[in-house]
Amino acid sequence: MHVGRPNITDQARFSELVEGLLERRWLTNDGPLVRELEERVAAHVGVRHCVATCNGTVALEIAIRALGLTGEVIVPSYTFIATAHALHWQGLTPVFADIDPRTHTLDPEAVQRAITPRTSGILGVHLWGRAAPVDDLQAIADEHGLPLLFDAAHAFSSTHRQRKIGRFGRAEVFSFHATKFFHSLEGGAIVTDDDDLAETMRLMRNFGFANEDEVIHPGTNGKMTEVCAAMGLANLPHVDRVREINRENHTAYTEALAEVPGVEVMQYDEAEDNNYQYVVLEVDSRVGPSRDEMLRTLRAENVLARRYFWPGCHNMMPYRELYPDAASTLAQTEAVADRVLVLPTGDSVSVDDIEVIADILAKRIAIG
Ligand SMILES: *Cc1c(COP(=O)(O)O)cnc(C)c1O
Repeated sequence: MHVGRPNITDQARFSELVEGLLERRWLTNDGPLVRELEERVAAHVGVRHCVATCNGTVALEIAIRALGLTGEVIVPSYTFIATAHALHWQGLTPVFADIDPRTHTLDPEAVQRAITPRTSGILGVHLWGRAAPVDDLQAIADEHGLPLLFDAAHAFSSTHRQRKIGRFGRAEVFSFHATKFFHSLEGGAIVTDDDDLAETMRLMRNFGFANEDEVIHPGTNGKMTEVCAAMGLANLPHVDRVREINRENHTAYTEALAEVPGVEVMQYDEAEDNNYQYVVLEVDSRVGPSRDEMLRTLRAENVLARRYFWPGCHNMMPYRELYPDAASTLAQTEAVADRVLVLPTGDSVSVDDIEVIADILAKRIAIG
């Protein structure tokens, strides 16, 4: 069992779609499957536009450029490295703001403090399938006239105020990587209600081509292939079923570990939909063994749990050398990165597996 084992929801449907695209010999370049996936994702989220891409990182880069961000952009350090790298790769400065230790998403007060005359935007991250503090961040963005963008790689089909994530800020970016809740092998998408922004992003995704031989914009190659779209189309009708599996697994972990001291399974707001893709265990090393000892114990039993975002983007290269003082304002980020352990879930993990995993943890803690 390992964290991030891909869900395969409908192998027969995927094979059927792949046969069709091979017969058409239309393998990429705005093919019918990519268009259909874009329409279905836009409808699922409830937005006007979905621009599908080859992955979430390039989607972030395209969104960052299409919004015209320059100079500094405020971002959490407690996120996957791609969030920071997308900014750096586009010549921008990620300014790391601290998180709320309860939700692990951006702390609005820390964002407020990080604003300087060089700030050009805020890039929030919806972590663990849970919304970032959307309304507070939007208020700060409005007050300072800054565009707000979201990295929604963790939050496909989750909600904020009962509205699907993807509908907030100027645009939101999904990753459809194989390890994500909803996936297309590799892939991603930018969703927005802004017609002009969507048009610019479509041009950027395909080298700036307006038609067969007219280039009207600088661009990159961010296209999704037809095979990837086929996997997306096969998986999309099953997202609610996968959410249910994940939710049952999350409940099983919560119950099995309820009486075990020193560990707590992060709970999500019942009033919102969460995709439950992440079972986040917070380890209190004052009570029992450290998070890393628990990780080693699980690995010895072939349960491949994972630390997440440890040691924080600001402690990774090049940021560690570029911004050596960043840690001074990131106390919560460092504390959370030291206590989080993500446990295996998804359609390849059963409730029986979870009881075994909980037992391993309970026994390790009992030893002290
Ligand atoms: C997975 C992920 C990305 C990157 O997406 P890719 O499709 O792998 O390029 C970006 N941000 C976060 C928070 C992610 O989890």
